[in-house]
Amino acid sequence: MKFILPVLLLLSITSCSVSKNPLRKQVKLLQKGINKDDTSYVYALPYEEGKTFRVIQGYFSRFTHKERAALDFNMKRGTKISAAREGVVTRVKEDGTKGGLKKKYRPDGNNIVIQHPDGSRAGYWHLQHNGALVNVGDTVKKGQVIGLSGKTGYAMTPHLHFLVWRSGGGQWQQVPTRFQTSKGIKYLKGWRKYHNSKPE
Ligand SMILES: [Zn+2]
Repeated sequence: MKFILPVLLLLSITSCSVSKNPLRKQVKLLQKGINKDDTSYVYALPYEEGKTFRVIQGYFSRFTHKERAALDFNMKRGTKISAAREGVVTRVKEDGTKGGLKKKYRPDGNNIVIQHPDGSRAGYWHLQHNGALVNVGDTVKKGQVIGLSGKTGYAMTPHLHFLVWRSGGGQWQQVPTRFQTSKGIKYLKGWRKYHNSKPE
């Protein structure tokens, strides 16, 4: 970590262009809490209660999330990943063995996709080889452990890439989501640590 964080920071500063996606601006407003009548679903952090992890890449960040409403949680291999929301498992890939910061590794990224009751889906990426603890068709509860994190696919360091998308106007669109954290309900930001517990 001592080495990786400065490298990521450097990469995010040196690539100067930012996303023109209108969602990017919206995310900023949501993170600042300016939008007061938010009725969107409150997700659980995708790891066990009592645990704390750092977001090393936030929404639309300049490194590999330039056009992605996705979050990267820094986690060492084998960390238990839990479902951020209940649903049915629609996709599992766990046969990937390779990972690194090369495009050719992209297809090796092990992942789990869960479809929620409202039709939206969440993806959990870069799981370790054979790191899925659920099967396609399984119904999972919110908070249920579903897999083990890793570094398969397009990844510089072991982490969990989490994203939610939903269908709108005939297209799938990635959406930022809010989470229950120990400090209340938040839209997560890059570089911050988040503790999975209810506020006291
Ligand atoms: Zn990512």
